Amino acid sequence: MRTLVVEDEPDLLHSLMQALREDGYAVDGAANGEEGLFKAENYDYDAIILDIMLPLLDGWQLLQRLRKTKKTPVLMLTARDAIRDRVRGLDTGADDYLIKPFDIDELLARVRALIRRSLSEASSRVPLGDVVLDTAARKLTRDGQEILLTAREYALVEYLALHRGKVVTRTMLYEHLFDEDDSSLSNLLDVHVSNIRKKLGHDFISTRRGHGYCIELQS
Ligand code: CA
Repeated sequence: MRTLVVEDEPDLLHSLMQALREDGYAVDGAANGEEGLFKAENYDYDAIILDIMLPLLDGWQLLQRLRKTKKTPVLMLTARDAIRDRVRGLDTGADDYLIKPFDIDELLARVRALIRRSLSEASSRVPLGDVVLDTAARKLTRDGQEILLTAREYALVEYLALHRGKVVTRTMLYEHLFDEDDSSLSNLLDVHVSNIRKKLGHDFISTRRGHGYCIELQS
């Protein structure tokens, strides 16, 4: 999953990006509204964390313009006691808001919930045959036994699992699993898939030649 943080306070921007990275997201940052809008329109983010008070273009203006073309889930950061800000944010098309200062664990939980909702996923536990993916705990278990995955392997399994039954192209995977600072080699995807198959069985991920990868729907 790839996220964008639009925040002009450098320390907060840095700590938010770091927390999201530690939680397994690919993360891009923008320090003003124009840069934020440019990235939000040009990349397909899974969620955007958007501050309201921003230079060049404020959070509302950014959101208003973005909503003309994209439905990317947006979590707005608002000032304490600014009820009108929250109402305006939700009216403009924000999906959720959080009041500054906030607890980072709450922010991470809300981002997870936003992404889940945007994918119409009812629960953080996703059954995949005899394997269960828990997106809140970021774990994969089989018969209650955890299957240890690297952060990249987990991110790949999670993305395919949340789009199960659909073919996910390599381009989509590169766009959603890596951020603009990543300079990974293109063959790495195959290496990750091969390592996941060693741990979960070859059929866990199907390859659609020339198209991409798929975790099949289990009946
Ligand atoms: Ca600000």
